[in-house]
Amino acid sequence: MSKITLGIIGGGQLGSMLALAAKKINIKTVIFSDDKESPAQRFSDKFIYGKYDDQQKINEFVNEVEIITYEFENIPYKTLNKINKLKPVLPKPSVNRIIQHRLAEKDFINKLNIRTTKYISIEKKSQIDALQDFLPGLLKTTTLGYDGKGQYLINSTTDVKSLNIDFSRGYILEKLVKLKKEISIIITRFNSKKYEIYEPIENIHENQILKESKIPASIDDKLLQLSKSWAIQISEELKYIGTLCVEFFIDRNDNLYVNEIAPRVHNSGHLTINAYNISQFENHIRAVCGLEQITLKKLSNAKMINIIGNQITNYRNKNFTKNEFFFDYHKKEIKDKRKMGHLTIICK
Ligand code: ADP
Ligand code: MG
Repeated sequence: MSKITLGIIGGGQLGSMLALAAKKINIKTVIFSDDKESPAQRFSDKFIYGKYDDQQKINEFVNEVEIITYEFENIPYKTLNKINKLKPVLPKPSVNRIIQHRLAEKDFINKLNIRTTKYISIEKKSQIDALQDFLPGLLKTTTLGYDGKGQYLINSTTDVKSLNIDFSRGYILEKLVKLKKEISIIITRFNSKKYEIYEPIENIHENQILKESKIPASIDDKLLQLSKSWAIQISEELKYIGTLCVEFFIDRNDNLYVNEIAPRVHNSGHLTINAYNISQFENHIRAVCGLEQITLKKLSNAKMINIIGNQITNYRNKNFTKNEFFFDYHKKEIKDKRKMGHLTIICK
């Protein structure tokens, strides 16, 4: 029996699924979250509520655990770094510092000679007038964006005039890619050149929110190999430990681009719970806790559907077949555009 207690910062659905996966392999979990109603507390062994800058609460949390990981990348670098001085934080805080800032993230990817969308840092509104080359484009906040939040579609410079946003927050303008498809790769790195990689997942977004994921992705072998090799290169370069997701765009000419990196388990990987011998969550825990690396085996094809907003009400009253796996995130409040649960359907 393992005696490790793992600390998880963040108590949403990813924290819930991490805690569940930990339980399966006898790892105890303590969740630390700034949300009193965190759904993950129903799955963890212990729950600590506190603001992310509350030193006393942080100390209480750190004293309870041996290793610390997190379910979202937007924890202030300062906080993670402070915690890392007391107990190991994995993935390393330095990874977060790069990835939580869209500009630093894209610069990092380009330095590896990996293609991203065309992008430019925006410090003030007037700058956009001279940037026809980047239009139509998406103006995105450099920090704290998720599920399309903090993104504005700019078709022409007149769209910019009506924008009422605080540019001092930091933005990037990204040229729109004429999308044919979106895919993601989930990889768990255990050590130098030691990793487990899942096959590419095909993703459908609606209003910039993930709607559906499926395996296999309908892509040719060249794109399959290239996406995998870029994901490996990125995780090696970051000396990453744990599960990481790389989101990709494929344009109409079959060019591959890295869209963004998530230094954590990812929504598109929820289907790995039912479609593989080891899920992205269990693999993350195995890697950060230094447990045995087990070779991945795919068990079936699968499709995952995100349940958003009040769609959840119907699902809560539904009967499911033996090939359908419904996961309710048990969020206190139903909100428009909020991810409330998911359904995975396995198909032979
Ligand atoms: P988030 O951090 O909110 O996930 P993303 O940058 O991944 O932000 O954008 C969310 C979605 O919006 C993408 O998955 C894609 O569907 C669409 N999108 C974002 N940037 C572009 C782009 N440059 N060209 C085309 N579509 C884009
Ligand atoms: Mg994204």
